[in-house]
Amino acid sequence: MRALSPEFTSYGWAPSTAEIARLAGIDPIEVVRFDGNVAAAPLSSSRPGAIAGALARVHTYPHGGYTELVPAIARYAGVGSENVVLGAGADDLIVLCARAFAGPGDTVAIADEPTYPLFRIAAWLAGAEVGDEDPVLTFCCRPNNPTGALDPVPGARPLVVDEAYYEYCGETALPLIDDGVIVIRTFSKAFGLAGARVGYALADVATAAELNARQTPAPVSTLSAALAVAALDSPPDVAPVVEERERLARALRSLGLEPLPSSANFLYMPVDGALRLSEQLLRQGLAVRAFPDAIRISIVDREDDDLLLDALARALDRPSPVAAPGGRRVRRLRATAETRIAVRLALDGASRVRVATGAGLYDHFLEQLAFHAGFDLILEGAGDLETGPHHTAEDAALALGDALSAALGDRRGIARYGDAVVPMDDALARAAVDLGGRPATELRLERDPGLAEHMLASLAQSARCAIHVEATGRDEHHVAEAAFKAVGRALRTAVRLESAGIPSTKGTL
Ligand code: PMP
Repeated sequence: MRALSPEFTSYGWAPSTAEIARLAGIDPIEVVRFDGNVAAAPLSSSRPGAIAGALARVHTYPHGGYTELVPAIARYAGVGSENVVLGAGADDLIVLCARAFAGPGDTVAIADEPTYPLFRIAAWLAGAEVGDEDPVLTFCCRPNNPTGALDPVPGARPLVVDEAYYEYCGETALPLIDDGVIVIRTFSKAFGLAGARVGYALADVATAAELNARQTPAPVSTLSAALAVAALDSPPDVAPVVEERERLARALRSLGLEPLPSSANFLYMPVDGALRLSEQLLRQGLAVRAFPDAIRISIVDREDDDLLLDALARALDRPSPVAAPGGRRVRRLRATAETRIAVRLALDGASRVRVATGAGLYDHFLEQLAFHAGFDLILEGAGDLETGPHHTAEDAALALGDALSAALGDRRGIARYGDAVVPMDDALARAAVDLGGRPATELRLERDPGLAEHMLASLAQSARCAIHVEATGRDEHHVAEAAFKAVGRALRTAVRLESAGIPSTKGTL
């Protein structure tokens, strides 16, 4: 092979989630990654139905180019289709730009240090060297990875501005594309499609045409293109991530740590013994990105970020700025051809509940159940709602039941039985549950908005419990809601820890 710069080192991947789980001695689903700067969850547009059309034509090439995706990106960015260059992630476009502008004997400049390592790797792969002497191309990253800083656009030309984290700050060098600037963006971050590998460059018409001419013929899979088109239909709202970033920064400061101001979805935090600290966290299943004298933390969400804060406080031997996470917590992911549901459940919670699958009324019922059970529950996902709420609501109930069963473990010490009577305006519901391990249901809801009984039956099946409910009333919503609340209240009693023993005279459940 042709020799590369003697300085060349290839991209270093972080360990796999399975490896981290082995190291920490936990199930892979319990590993929390703060090291990838990716979204906490896929967008709700990323569901099986979004790729069904592309799958039906997966035996063909994207003949004629990406006729839906390119115009959709152009609309989103506010440019013309002829300004757009597609690639398999921003990385592909970084390499394409380096290859297009630089070759052996050339120098490529990189604006910041530390910054995204792929700039120098791309320069080396093109056969060039990295330096500041008379560069043929300059790379810069805004906001910068890993620091989160949003520095002014350098004056150097030609200039590639990597805007992988553009959505989190809204600042762009796009007005400069007719002045020797190429902007690179990605669907991997705010759009939650890192695994799909879709990125794009925006450049003046002549540069875009030349880059497209030098790009491989079909760089993005048609399945990924379909996901990107679906995502562009309802672009993400990054406000909650930005808000959570600031909350986390404040909490870190209360621990005596000093995260730098960030314009992206991560925090860069100089700290003594960064490598040792990251090792310590990794052994608890919490992966951060380590640098010699700093760690970089991707924002996940309040619940997971609190796990990290608690672990950091313990590692640094300082009082935790958050309530210690309780026991009997589990995470579950249920993925079928029709739905994808992620569950985080803590039985000894404080009724902090969020259910968001898009199944409207049925999300509301599950929220009521978990709230009245006293659980902390986050149940998120997406299903084929175009076929109606059936699959999504059913799988949400199955996923919750599965998580409940897992959180109960061998069910040692629990009260096992619980019952409740809940009135709701005209409706009255009576529920009794037995967490003895045998699924059974006796459900008599006088009215049902459609899937209420079916969801309770699904819950009983996967939680391996018996649920009896009798609910009467004139309004179907009230009848069903009272039923879910009553089951929640009954569960609150049944999951309570009462003794050390197995709650059965058989000695086994
Ligand atoms: N640029 C920057 C600054 C990044 O941080 C990353 C992701 N690590 C990328 C590009 C790569 O993005 P993609 O997944 O689109 O290749």
